Amino acid sequence: MVADCLFCKIFAREIPSREVFRDDDTVAFDDIRPVAPTHVLVIPKEHIASVHDLTPDQLPIVSRLIATANRIADERKIARDGYRLVFNNGPQAGQTVYHLHLHLLGGRGLGWPPG
Ligand code: AMP
Ligand code: ZN
Repeated sequence: MVADCLFCKIFAREIPSREVFRDDDTVAFDDIRPVAPTHVLVIPKEHIASVHDLTPDQLPIVSRLIATANRIADERKIARDGYRLVFNNGPQAGQTVYHLHLHLLGGRGLGWPPG
């Protein structure tokens, strides 16, 4: 756990969130400023600053994040219409929180290319 990290604190429940799913090494919660009807963030327990910082031995974490997001997409019944999974990496991509998180976006048409 990294002391000044917002998402480490959310994982530890030191900061409240609207939790959607939790297991020993993953938590999913509603984004505080949703940009789509479903906007859930899926994070690992382990503090990894960004997707670019993943080491080869940490790559299985990404599978777990995706598995959780897929499961939530099923629960929200957005899988048939479609949804988007996003890792923002670095400032130009709009990353603001430097603890790995996967955005699950759905429930409306999503533009492409993104802004
Ligand atoms: P990113 O811009 O990819 O780093 O995504 C960070 C996301 O975290 C943004 O969509 C924020 O709205 C969201 N966020 C920031 N603080 C909180 C919080 N306390 N609870 C839930 N989501 C948050
Ligand atoms: Zn962290």
